[in-house]
Amino acid sequence: MNDFDKQHIWHPYTSMTHPLPVYEAVSADGVRIKLKDGRELIDGMSSWWAAIHGYNHPVLNAAAKDQLEKFAHVMFGGLTHEPAVKLAQQLIEVTPAELQYVYFSDSGSVSVEVAIKMAVQYWHNTGKPEKHRLLTIRGGYHGDTFAAMSVCDPVTGMHSLFSGVVAEQYFAPRPESRFGESLQQGDMRALEQLLAENHASIAALILEPIVQGAGGMWFYSAEYLARARTLCDEYDVLLIADEIATGFGRTGKLFACEHAGVSPDIMCLGKAMTGGYVSLAATLTNARVRDGISANGGVLMHGPTFMGNALACAISSASINLLVESRWQERVAAITAQLASELAAYCDHPAVSDVRICGAIGVVETQREVDMAELQKIFVANGVWIRPFGRLVYLMPPYIIEPGELHLLGRAIGLALDTMR
Ligand code: PMP
Repeated sequence: MNDFDKQHIWHPYTSMTHPLPVYEAVSADGVRIKLKDGRELIDGMSSWWAAIHGYNHPVLNAAAKDQLEKFAHVMFGGLTHEPAVKLAQQLIEVTPAELQYVYFSDSGSVSVEVAIKMAVQYWHNTGKPEKHRLLTIRGGYHGDTFAAMSVCDPVTGMHSLFSGVVAEQYFAPRPESRFGESLQQGDMRALEQLLAENHASIAALILEPIVQGAGGMWFYSAEYLARARTLCDEYDVLLIADEIATGFGRTGKLFACEHAGVSPDIMCLGKAMTGGYVSLAATLTNARVRDGISANGGVLMHGPTFMGNALACAISSASINLLVESRWQERVAAITAQLASELAAYCDHPAVSDVRICGAIGVVETQREVDMAELQKIFVANGVWIRPFGRLVYLMPPYIIEPGELHLLGRAIGLALDTMR
């Protein structure tokens, strides 16, 4: 089976002729992923931010089974259903008050495409079609589709591979002011200058609030985010918050925008929205954007086949209930504290250049690029599932993780770092 996989199946960001090793999972339960050879791994990744409640959760399983017995999917053109309506109500309830209008799509990247379309259509329909470009900050990641790629970091992203195909956007430097600290003097200057010079052609500023994920796992000051919102207002530019990774409690707030008390004009959600069960995403917006797009009979030009998938919506509803009814703040705070003590031990390790923590995310930045396959071998041999990339070894475990399990994840990072001295 693994041979067939190697010969025929592409994995994320890999070569088909020089594939990286893959491990076969046969089941997963709680915070453990079981491999075919019988080994059990403690999950430090939440399957890329998604499995916040752990795997094989009885409440989510029941929601899936219950919905399956009614129907899995019907087209969303001309039809609606209770799972979608209920989920939209919940999303409106938990996100900033102005976000009242919900567009369901199938993945994070598509929700970013929809957000960009919303912004561009807004200006097109309100008499300023020249405002169609995007402003973003370096070090960002927003997905792998073309418009989303155009606002990923131009160096670590895929711009050089697709130059001429990916749209050219405006990039401000990555904020240097760290999360938990106040704004360093001059940190807003470039963003402000770009807005001052180009606002007439900018539809929106898109950013990941507080935590930049796959573009570098960098956590920046809430004051930067608050100031960015003010600048958007001053220069009449929409603000798109990509909360696909940060949403649903990961940073210690339900949504990272809350760290700065900011309400974006458009917000993208995905990943943990279904507790990691199935792919579902949403783009929410406010009355201003809704009215702009809808003026003179305007319609939002997007309509995926699996829009509002009932099975996904039902699971998502159950996942959000599970989250808000749990003591997630306490759990995330406990993870923050433990990550801080376990990973701080590596600050002075010769292979390490930085350690940073935000909510239930712990990052060890290494001096040199890691050999992902080699490190993965060490992690699996030590009973943990951690997938580093570039110079980043990081943890973002399910919120249900116990201190003993988190300790094993932290210890495994130490063992891996020792091989990199
Ligand atoms: N935005 C952010 C901030 C993300 O972290 C990701 C996924 N890593 C995406 C967008 C894209 O989501 P998806 O992989 O579901 O298309």
